[in-house]
Amino acid sequence: MLNNKSILIIGAGISGITAAVSLIKSQFTNVIILEAENRIGGRIETVSFANGFIDLGAQWCQGEKGNSVYELCKNEFKFGTTGWLNGTGFVPVASSGEIDVEKILRLEELRQEILLKYDEMKKSKVSIGEFFEEKFYDALKTSQFQDIDEKLADMFLGFWQREFNSLFASTNWYDVSSKLYPILETCEGQQDLTWRQYGFKTLFDIIQKDLPKSIKLEEKILLNKKVTKINWSNEKVIVQTEDNSVYSADNIIITIPLGYLQAHHMNIFYPKLPDSKIKAIECIKVGTLGKVFLEFEECFWNRDNDDFVMYAFLWTKEDLEQIIDTDKEWLTHILGFIKVDSHPNLLEGLLSGDKMREFETYSNDKIISDCMWMLEKFLKRSLPRPIAMRRTKWLTRENFLGSYTYLSMKSADENITSDDLATSIKSKNNKPVLLFSGEATHKRYQGYVHGALDSGKRAAQEIIDFYSSKSKL
Ligand SMILES: Cc1cc2nc3c(=O)[nH]c(=O)nc-3n(C[C@H](O)[C@H](O)[C@H](O)COP(=O)(O)OP(=O)(O)OC[C@H]3O[C@@H](n4cnc5c(N)ncnc54)[C@H](O)[C@@H]3O)c2cc1C
Repeated sequence: MLNNKSILIIGAGISGITAAVSLIKSQFTNVIILEAENRIGGRIETVSFANGFIDLGAQWCQGEKGNSVYELCKNEFKFGTTGWLNGTGFVPVASSGEIDVEKILRLEELRQEILLKYDEMKKSKVSIGEFFEEKFYDALKTSQFQDIDEKLADMFLGFWQREFNSLFASTNWYDVSSKLYPILETCEGQQDLTWRQYGFKTLFDIIQKDLPKSIKLEEKILLNKKVTKINWSNEKVIVQTEDNSVYSADNIIITIPLGYLQAHHMNIFYPKLPDSKIKAIECIKVGTLGKVFLEFEECFWNRDNDDFVMYAFLWTKEDLEQIIDTDKEWLTHILGFIKVDSHPNLLEGLLSGDKMREFETYSNDKIISDCMWMLEKFLKRSLPRPIAMRRTKWLTRENFLGSYTYLSMKSADENITSDDLATSIKSKNNKPVLLFSGEATHKRYQGYVHGALDSGKRAAQEIIDFYSSKSKL
């Protein structure tokens, strides 16, 4: 009976693949995934580099308790760590002048305290940037922080803004709602679990492990099938792809990244989506996290700290002013360079902010020269040139148009959360016809792989529940 039901899943990222696996395990065999790219994985993209693998997209399994990725893999895979939590390998470096590390560590504690003021945040109408600045400068007026001068406070605040933007992929922390921020939850446990030399792609092998032997998941995934039209005017939904193939299905799970949906939903759906869905698509924001991997002949950073984890860049106001409005401005968004687990000769730069388009369009040579200019400026010595470089382009890649989502001031003003995006669209007989899953639809773990994975399970379960309740009638 369930074999008759045809389910189409759009997108072969972790959400789409999880949905397919859940459905197949519940006896739905007529399941097809249409994927626009020539590979599975979506924003999990492990590629060869520097005699091994690196992750251009998701890199860390963030947290353990309640993290479905961790739960699924903990007995199958031995995770590594980057070493964030240890704290001793954090090397703050200033664009000019010396840095008092002890003061920075105290400011870091203050930052952590402010971030836990959830009750105040929930009532707040301002952005997370304004909320944080107010609390930060108030605390600096107290006797405990008398020895922190304005220059150091500004340098630290700039770093924290970059760190926040890199974590949440926000373009600007004045665009992130402090009221909605407490909705997001961190899973308890290590936040920096790595896939060592194997990469995040390992997850896709683990997820398929307990499928029945007779089922070959790869046979259910059609690559290079970009969906251009979804006609949901009748009981059966008709889907068309760029190469003019046509598919029909009883239910469609849409896992397309929100950046892509924002740009194309008006052309894809017929009839157009309900206004409430369009509002959710338009209010939740998509940001871009960028990465630059530099490979060196040999590691030079252990000269600065045996436990090295990261060079954290702190800019003075004067130095910042010198490169704003120049073609080096993008560098002011780099949070720092971190080491990469299982790659002793790699440094990885992380950045987010309003210069991502420029970053993605500059030439490889410029990216290398600019990064080296910056590293030499902050480390105050000459350094060897990298032997190879790899960088990301999530904002300009046509099937993504961004890296992941955040809850913007607009979402707060319009009272929109990921739940509004997740709600399925039903036919007259209450059948969920269009189901929405993917990272952006998870209320608590938005932006994470475990959020995307859970959302795929949730969409599959809605279909399973619908047909099993019908079969009981
Ligand atoms: C740079 C970066 C760093 C990250 N770091 C982490 C991290 O460390 N830890 C963590 O937990 N998360 C991280 N994330 C977030 C994580 O990668 C995502 O939340 C998750 O992978 C999203 O999965 P998804 O299935 O929702 O979407 P996707 O993986 O994007 O899958 C959607 C699929 O839809 C396809 N598609 C698009 N348009 C069409 C179309 N018209 N027709 C057919 N197919 C289409 C896309 O090609 C894609 O394969 C990071 C993401 C990025 C980009």
